Amino acid sequence: MSRRRISIFGSTGSIGCSTLDVIGHLGGRDAFEIPAITGMGNVALLAEQAKAFGAGFAVTADPGRYNELKDALSGSGIEAGAGPSALIEAGERPADMVMAGIVGIAGLAPTLAAAKTGADIALANKECLVSAGDLFKKAVAAGGGRLLPVDSEHNAIFQVLETDQRHAVERIILTASGGPFRTFTREEMARVTPDRAAAHPNWSMGMKISIDSASLFNKALEMIEAKHLFDMPPAAIEVIVHPQSIIHSMVGYTDGSILAQLGAPDMRTAIGYALSWPRRANLPVKRLDLAALARLDFAAPDFERFPALGLARLAMERGGLQGAVLNGAKEAALEAFIARRIGFLSMAEIVGEVMDEMADLPEASDIEDVYEADREARRRAEIRIAGRQDDFS
Ligand code: NAD
Ligand code: MG
Repeated sequence: MSRRRISIFGSTGSIGCSTLDVIGHLGGRDAFEIPAITGMGNVALLAEQAKAFGAGFAVTADPGRYNELKDALSGSGIEAGAGPSALIEAGERPADMVMAGIVGIAGLAPTLAAAKTGADIALANKECLVSAGDLFKKAVAAGGGRLLPVDSEHNAIFQVLETDQRHAVERIILTASGGPFRTFTREEMARVTPDRAAAHPNWSMGMKISIDSASLFNKALEMIEAKHLFDMPPAAIEVIVHPQSIIHSMVGYTDGSILAQLGAPDMRTAIGYALSWPRRANLPVKRLDLAALARLDFAAPDFERFPALGLARLAMERGGLQGAVLNGAKEAALEAFIARRIGFLSMAEIVGEVMDEMADLPEASDIEDVYEADREARRRAEIRIAGRQDDFS
């Protein structure tokens, strides 16, 4: 039997490592071929993964690290590449599926290239849909591949959405753990450090998504992602705080039923589901002990302490390029927070101001419009970051 070809973008990150772990459990090199894998700074790990899984092409996004990667792969027969054009080439290498696990807008170009080849897209990266929504979906449809959501909430919805009952789908309920600052006051939030914000109570994830989970910008991106994935009106996309992260999301139907997907907070379930769909795999994830859990809690989200949620609503209602603007300004503000140039609460303030200034941008007609909106949003955010004098000592 021929092996399935899966390329992995962002293989050295949290999603990428979990994907390779799942591939190992589903038969490893006997069952899978890896046409391409990509990483960035962690070249030693990238080379190690490429050799362990016999990848065809290994790419670091950092052009300055080409020689380091080439040396680490010498004698293995694995091709090395570096920089933006090599990332796109990785997307163009023929594959049955790609795992889109690069963080941020940087994931858009290689994933788009892969979509055009007709590969199925297992989508962990949120920004492809948040920033380029319709264009990205059109590219996947034109290529003929399928879009399989990996983000745990969207994967959960994908699992319980009865596609032959679309007319009866009333609402989508995204669960949110509430992050490490769920019970903090705004005064307390103003002074939190990046390390504190990156310490998620339930999930082990990359640093940027962890901090986005603390500000609920992650949930904001997920609301926009859900709108695009499931073609729902903004008002039908709800968020409920559920601190245990056991219910990964729900779909509400017109007969009053709510279907939910539950599981341990382990991304390997969602990854394994996307890789095995429409079948289910046997995975070594922790089984839920409901009696030991004893209870599941829920609370309404607080739009005042977490303004990112309101910004997502606004972006969905305004449409056009507001998703790209929200994300571009958010990425700039997040990097500034990590560098300790601004305080935690400034992130949402800056994003909201940039969105208001760029509220009238029309729908993107091509991908360059998306990049232009992203660049302009970052530029405007950067002006605000430079002018800010936050006291977070
Ligand atoms: P991570 O930071 O752990 O890994 C990111 C990967 O992307 C790494 O391989 C890194 O080398 C690469 N990368 C970083 N910057 C890059 C750039 N500029 N160009 C090319 N490659 C670059 O992140 P993660 O937690 O694995 O998340 C990856 C994506 O999946 C994000 O979009 C995140 O929102 C989404 N996601 C993650 C989780 C999770 O549990 N980790 C869950 C749902 C969705
Ligand atoms: Mg998620």
